Amino acid sequence: MLFPPSFGAPTSDDYAIAVIIPPEIPPAALRLELDAHALANNWRALDRLSGVASAGAAVKADAYGLGAAQAAPLLRDAGCRDFFVAHWSEAAALLPYIDGAAIAVLHGPLNAGDAAFAKAIGARPVINSLHQARLWLDAGGGRCDLMVDTGINRLGLPLSELGDEAVQALDIDVLLSHLASAEEDSPLNPRQRGLWGDARRRVAHRRGSLANSAGIALGATYHGELTRPGLALYGGIPCAAMDGKIQQVVVLKAAIMQVRDLSAGDGVGYNSTFIAEGPMRAGVIALGYADGYLRGWSSKGTMLSNGRRLPVLGRVSMDMTVIDLSAAPELAEGDWVEVEYTLPIAAAASGLSQYELLTLLGDRFGR
Ligand SMILES: *Cc1c(COP(=O)(O)O)cnc(C)c1O
Repeated sequence: MLFPPSFGAPTSDDYAIAVIIPPEIPPAALRLELDAHALANNWRALDRLSGVASAGAAVKADAYGLGAAQAAPLLRDAGCRDFFVAHWSEAAALLPYIDGAAIAVLHGPLNAGDAAFAKAIGARPVINSLHQARLWLDAGGGRCDLMVDTGINRLGLPLSELGDEAVQALDIDVLLSHLASAEEDSPLNPRQRGLWGDARRRVAHRRGSLANSAGIALGATYHGELTRPGLALYGGIPCAAMDGKIQQVVVLKAAIMQVRDLSAGDGVGYNSTFIAEGPMRAGVIALGYADGYLRGWSSKGTMLSNGRRLPVLGRVSMDMTVIDLSAAPELAEGDWVEVEYTLPIAAAASGLSQYELLTLLGDRFGR
């Protein structure tokens, strides 16, 4: 009882005491299915394409949005022994899932705390500057990687600083550089390869690494001893040479929450940007731009049901999207549809990159 019958101070009898047992959370109305075989097959294909080099795996940004906790053990079981993340927090999160395989942190140590953390968890920092080289040595040094800049002018030690005593004092496992235009037939590729080769002759290291996914397709002279695919592991096709060798990994599905009959003249969604020309059935699905299905898919995206195409009607909203059920009249509330999200096709249709299409998927998907 909220108000005791007497106006005196409430006693414990005046209140019902509820023990709250958290109920099981019901399954999400949208799902991101990760095809474990496709992911493992893609790693093996990229490892084969890497020739005598081994393929590592870029699992930064939560394995490009797919979930590093799910993806990393599958990659590890397929044979991957070198994992790359960007942030120290990502390295910590990855530790339980890779069973002793190596982690390299691409951003490197920004301060003494990062360096101490690297030592504590046994991850290799990727040293990107003289500042980082000195920080690492001041923390006691130990095995690390070195990223040299050969023309992308992003993160990486300028080649002019390779002779510095702090750099020469490093215990370098992997000497990395990163290609700016690997997915294009660009003169920058052989130029960067040449500069990376020069760097390899000027500083002691165990393994060399230059190629991302697209770089693997450039051939053996780009491979060194370790390649660093990311996108292609997750089903992205960065260049024509990988078409047919890489399988789609992500399948997105959403539940139909409501079905409605439209009449001629009915508008759908915000601002009625779709108007029915005649009687038709529409379904409302639990997927919206907050989940990464951006507004650019308004009147443009497609859902699939047994190969039948169900176009998006009108605007995508934050939490829902309306689709045309004309081609699948039997679909009812509670049924599921698949989102057309084949990466190269979705990229061409949306104007987004395959990288963005993966990494923007939100955390409301059941995974
Ligand atoms: C992200 C990243 C990769 C992976 O690149 P993909 O194009 O996704 O294969 C490799 N190396 C570095 C340094 C990266 O930042």
